[in-house]
Amino acid sequence: MTCIDLQGRAREALDIATALGLAASTPERQPVHLPFTLAPWQPGDLAFATEISGLAPAFGRLYAAVSADRDFLLRELRPAAEVDGFVAGMLGCLPEVPREKPRLLLLRNDFMVVEGRPRQVEINLMAAALGPASEKVNRLHRYLYRECGGEIRILPTSPGSAQAAVLTEAWRLYGDESARVLFLQPADETNLFEQLDLAVRLAVDHGVPVARCTLEELGEEGRLAGDELWFRGRPVAVGYFRTGYAPSHYSRQAAWEARRLLEHSRAVSIPSVADQLANMKLVQHRLGRPEVLRRFLSGEEASRVEASFAVMAHPWEEVKWRGRTARALDLALECPECWVLKPQREGGRNNLYGEEMVAALRGLSRERSTAFILMEYLRPPTFRSVRLVAGGVREEECVAEYGSFGAVLFGAGEGTPRFNQELGYLVRTKHHRAREGGVVSGYSAVDSLADRRGPLEKGTGSLV
Ligand code: ADP
Ligand code: MG
Repeated sequence: MTCIDLQGRAREALDIATALGLAASTPERQPVHLPFTLAPWQPGDLAFATEISGLAPAFGRLYAAVSADRDFLLRELRPAAEVDGFVAGMLGCLPEVPREKPRLLLLRNDFMVVEGRPRQVEINLMAAALGPASEKVNRLHRYLYRECGGEIRILPTSPGSAQAAVLTEAWRLYGDESARVLFLQPADETNLFEQLDLAVRLAVDHGVPVARCTLEELGEEGRLAGDELWFRGRPVAVGYFRTGYAPSHYSRQAAWEARRLLEHSRAVSIPSVADQLANMKLVQHRLGRPEVLRRFLSGEEASRVEASFAVMAHPWEEVKWRGRTARALDLALECPECWVLKPQREGGRNNLYGEEMVAALRGLSRERSTAFILMEYLRPPTFRSVRLVAGGVREEECVAEYGSFGAVLFGAGEGTPRFNQELGYLVRTKHHRAREGGVVSGYSAVDSLADRRGPLEKGTGSLV
């Protein structure tokens, strides 16, 4: 599988991880290394990665269009808002008339590869993390395997630097050199270092003024002067959210006020409230309907995107699955291992599986079920992987999840994006029976993608 002695190199790999800053923080502000693999993922056939790269512009266009369709968002999300206070709160922040200003969608589209084809797990337009971490594990692997070139080729990726470059472009479109990019973070952030890494890249590599604060601080200290948002002595050009995706992030009214200030100013909000609503799993489910998807994308593009969707339904909805049409709830009760129940939440550890899912489904009223999605459980092929987790070596059967970073950038009032591209990839590898996918939470390890067949073949070049 590999040309190096993995066990013998674990200590060295840990040192390299430290050198590169592949780290998260404990709640007590102690650095700990992120879980990472010692050997890159070598799935053999990399056609899926080319396919995902090819889908990136279509997904970019799709989500830009959905987020611009206020009526669609209101119509689709109102039923869930009746029973889910967080959805209602976000919907209540959606401006009646969107302000004309630059827009940047910064996203990560997550897939699992089943029978060689990519299947979408979910898309993240809010606080899409691990760009810098993916870049670092990639460098770590390329260093460890530097003399294995004839045997494997690790596909380079640098989503951290690509994200910093595109954030700089959004800042430039604001048009005021003194205005800052504001990193919005929770006070107890554990994935702090990669956000600092991005901030350093912006400030030092691109000369962009940056500052960091919590949502509450912006809500309390931010002031609108006309359409400019002022905070701590300077205008805000960009509010970049690394918080604000969970109800617990809005325990104080000041956090909602921060959202309102950004929406009502000409500062670029990444994401805007509309982007965040478009990103909801409830919308992902609706886009699974061909007639809904085709309102936003043209025929051929829609078909390619559609082919990547897994089966999704509200629990009380009828759905076609493995040749049968039945209520999703009944299908899931018959085969709990074949489904996952998702509430309208982000940030990991909210989904329900197996017995927990069954118990939740049994207690779920038809009315409340509009805020939940049942999704077919994806089973990618397993492979042997060696991970370093909390300093210990683990060799186990694993599965991989492949994330495709992307960005869509519009100038103020423009309908055609200036930029709509993939920014690189993320591989997360986890125990094949682990259900969640978080890296900082310890479920998955960051990984890279390698080709066993030597030099890159034509067609995969867009990943480099
Ligand atoms: P969140 O937005 O909270 O990250 P996700 O829907 O992405 O929620 O689910 C978290 C993780 O759970 C994913 O990264 C993936 O590892 C796993 N997961 C989610 N949906 C599925 C699915 N349909 N099949 C298999 N695993 C899934
Ligand atoms: Mg998510």
